[in-house]
Amino acid sequence: MISKIIDEELIQAAKENILDASKIVITTHVSPDGDAMGSSLALSQFLQGLGKAVAVIIPNDMPDFLKWLPGADDVVVYEKNKDMAEKLIAESDLIMALDFNELHRIEGMAVPVADAKAKKVLVDHHINPGHFADVVISYPEMTSTAEMVFRLICRMGYASDIDAVIGTCIYTGMMTDTGCFTYNSKSAEIYIIIAELIKKGINKDLIYQKVFYNFSENRYRLQGHLLSKKMKIYHEYGLSVMSLSKDEKTDFEFQKGDTEGFVNIPLSIKGVIFSVFFKEEEDKVKMSFRSVSPLVVNDIASELFGGGGHANAAGASSKLSLEETMKVFMDSLPKYKDRIDNALKVIYG
Ligand code: MN
Repeated sequence: MISKIIDEELIQAAKENILDASKIVITTHVSPDGDAMGSSLALSQFLQGLGKAVAVIIPNDMPDFLKWLPGADDVVVYEKNKDMAEKLIAESDLIMALDFNELHRIEGMAVPVADAKAKKVLVDHHINPGHFADVVISYPEMTSTAEMVFRLICRMGYASDIDAVIGTCIYTGMMTDTGCFTYNSKSAEIYIIIAELIKKGINKDLIYQKVFYNFSENRYRLQGHLLSKKMKIYHEYGLSVMSLSKDEKTDFEFQKGDTEGFVNIPLSIKGVIFSVFFKEEEDKVKMSFRSVSPLVVNDIASELFGGGGHANAAGASSKLSLEETMKVFMDSLPKYKDRIDNALKVIYG
């Protein structure tokens, strides 16, 4: 048995909303990752099993390495199919918001979702949940929203409805949001959940292969280029900085998702506990911040660029040029030197 972490009142409120609804929309954050898709598709298939009409609507498309997920073919991509998506949102009687904390995380969908007459239930593990939902189930200590979906289904009394298909989606979210159980994965209970999912028939090795043995040749050529030519290590800050320009994207025939996970690589270098990746986009620069516990970096993303996220995995964006954005970051480093030194001491003694 696992402990009852989610408040009983929240479970009952979610259950009431689900049982009352017939048309349910599930939505998740822009540039959906393995947890966003895994949690949404798991919940979707569970709700369909209860006889609900369910639509999963995502702001923009998911990366190719998630398209094998059960139910992925039926997902509505808002930016490709606005009219249909807005109709589904407007006509729904329940919207379940998964794996994001604030409406701006669903970009163009924020207005139609805010305007919808539907009841809203938020299920998420990011800090500082917004106030847009009627029921807010927010537990930042969870590995993933997928873990929360598992707990929610069980606590509502439907544990036996979780089958290998739903379990596959849940496991994908838990695996991808913990770097394959290498961070944020110290709780014994998640391994009890995994054992339950294996008993339900998931093939965890096959899920790993489908997610990670699925990359293009270009992705690895780009990775080689970034690590050999672009990665800069600043030992005094335990820091790695990498950047990708628009020109390099063209050179390497960049596809969405090609740099997924790159920011984590430098953290395996001895002495590096902080990794930042800058990616130039059409009209902005996107940044990913990663750190090794106990170094907290989400407030750095927030202080410098108005971003946020988890303590060890955060993001931000900037309207400045790539060079200017990197300069703002580099110039701020002395401010965080004490904190970084303390974390280096804890990790390396
Ligand atoms: Mn997540």
